[in-house]
Amino acid sequence: MKQDINQLRGEVVQVGKRIYEHGYVASNDGNISVRLDDNFVLITPTGISKGFMKPEDLIIIDMNGELIEGMRKPSTETDMHIQIYKDRSDVKSVCHAHPPYATGFAVAGIHLDKMVLPEVIMMLGIVPLVEYGETGTGHLYEMISKSIKDYDAFLLANHGAVTVGTSVLDAYHKMETLEHAALIQFIARQLGKVKVLNKNQVAQLVSQRQKWGVREDVGLKSPKKSTKKSKKR
Ligand SMILES: [Zn+2]
Repeated sequence: MKQDINQLRGEVVQVGKRIYEHGYVASNDGNISVRLDDNFVLITPTGISKGFMKPEDLIIIDMNGELIEGMRKPSTETDMHIQIYKDRSDVKSVCHAHPPYATGFAVAGIHLDKMVLPEVIMMLGIVPLVEYGETGTGHLYEMISKSIKDYDAFLLANHGAVTVGTSVLDAYHKMETLEHAALIQFIARQLGKVKVLNKNQVAQLVSQRQKWGVREDVGLKSPKKSTKKSKKR
């Protein structure tokens, strides 16, 4: 178990470096966690750049958010991470960042709900925009909880993005896929045309999910659109 924890600490440090170097976060933003077992979670602390962490900077908390091991204070989004683990027994890791293109869609109030890119359809499907919830409060997770079972990636209105996965790298890769998809859709929108794949093409891609270890029904529901914003779109 000790060996496993050391390995997981190393993985979180590596992913922290990647999200920082890719510009998915600024300053001390973002947080990454991994479930150790039914009772404990390894999570990044608050007040540190995710690009410059050492393995010993990470802390262990219990499912009530109480600090169990480590010298630093838990992430401000600890509650969101814990609630995700409670609601999704299949999730082993959670990644939260503010990647600029995905966050741009989240600020513009636009769901990433167009089925346009094969890899994105296979891995994530639709990425819904979750209503604004105040950072560091239960309100943020209250908004996410409405659709936590249906998707593995979420845009957080006026804030950023959250991805969940079966490992630290899996959650991170979903963040990378999400940001790449947002960048490409942004470019296509500038070019004036977003051509979506048809139902059969989407079904063919979804049918390959099992082969890639992806849950077959993830990201297939149309997101609930806010009645206030969606009228004119
Ligand atoms: Zn944030």
